[in-house]
Amino acid sequence: MQNIPKTVCIKFKEARRALGLTQSQLAISIGCQQAALSMFESGKPTKLSGEYVSKLAARLNLNLDELMEKDRSSDVAVMQPSASAGFCPDPDCPSNIQYAVGERMFFRITLQKGRYCAHCGEVLEKRCPSCGAALNEGACCSMCGKAYVNGQVE
Ligand SMILES: [Zn+2]
Ligand SMILES: [Zn+2]
Repeated sequence: MQNIPKTVCIKFKEARRALGLTQSQLAISIGCQQAALSMFESGKPTKLSGEYVSKLAARLNLNLDELMEKDRSSDVAVMQPSASAGFCPDPDCPSNIQYAVGERMFFRITLQKGRYCAHCGEVLEKRCPSCGAALNEGACCSMCGKAYVNGQVE
């Protein structure tokens, strides 16, 4: 992927760290090499193809176009995942209240402040893990309909 400024690459690194993910965890989740991700984060964007950069942006809840735009307008404001409320993704965490609808298990999430779950210490999710939309009250994403906490292995 060409012409992504180093300042934008660094935003990707910051976003990953804010989520508490290691380079290798993130690389595995989008299916690229950890070494390529490392190069990308250090300001060598050509090491990662556009397809992976898109996956990366989606996984980190980043809007690449927006970041590029902000970089051009010099005042680079980063999205601060830790500033907003989040929920614990662990089905076994007491912060999630379980209930069943038919055969499916749902969890009513408790929105918490900070970066880590106050109950179990897990890194809080700040956005819908499936589509990246902002969180709403309740158990499912209002944008894509996916359950925020999935108790079943898919
Ligand atoms: Zn928790
Ligand atoms: Zn969603």
